[in-house]
Amino acid sequence: MARGVNSRSVIDAMLKIPRHIFVQEAFAMQAYSDTPLPIGEKQTISQPYMVALMTELLELNGTEKVLEIGTGSGYQTAILATLADRVYSAERIRPLALRARKCLDSLRLFNVQLRINDNEGSQIGWEEEAPFDAIIVTAGAPDVPGILVEQLAPGGRLVIPVGNESEQQLLKIVKNDQGELESTTSVACRFVPLIGKQGWQI
Ligand code: SAH
Repeated sequence: MARGVNSRSVIDAMLKIPRHIFVQEAFAMQAYSDTPLPIGEKQTISQPYMVALMTELLELNGTEKVLEIGTGSGYQTAILATLADRVYSAERIRPLALRARKCLDSLRLFNVQLRINDNEGSQIGWEEEAPFDAIIVTAGAPDVPGILVEQLAPGGRLVIPVGNESEQQLLKIVKNDQGELESTTSVACRFVPLIGKQGWQI
């Protein structure tokens, strides 16, 4: 947390949400180390520092409608649900989405809607619910998917890791009230790949 996450509300949300329930039992002892962990299906729960940083970059004040691509364990989703009004989260791997649902329900986070995308990841975004005040992609993309920029509301923030399959840069894209985009680069990071037409092909 000393590495540049200053937002009190983000830190409070992370203190409130137990991470161990989102990891497999075998890794529960490591749940409070600052490291990514396997969650099955060749996917990982993100490092807590990365969750905190990405959440801080979204600048949530409790009123937002948020889209997350890559529910995974549901841990980042739970943090978002604590800090925003409504969260819509999409995942392509059914068993992960089902497990995430159980964890979120056990924490009584009922302001989250989950969707299971087709396994090819060809759907991206959530057209019926757009626009969103904040969008977070928790898988690495080769480029910023245009469809997500379209689904961002005026004043909205999009946070996404962009790069090759082994390393990405965390980007924050802000759409101003005139619809103009401004992009800033944050830290280097390493995420599992975003799969699909606007990501990597499988
Ligand atoms: N925030 C999650 C990160 C999980 S890893 C956590 O901390 O647990 C990223 C997730 O993105 C994986 O579960 C992967 O299956 C999912 N994913 C990859 N491409 C996707 C796509 N096109 N649509 C939805 N989910 C996708």
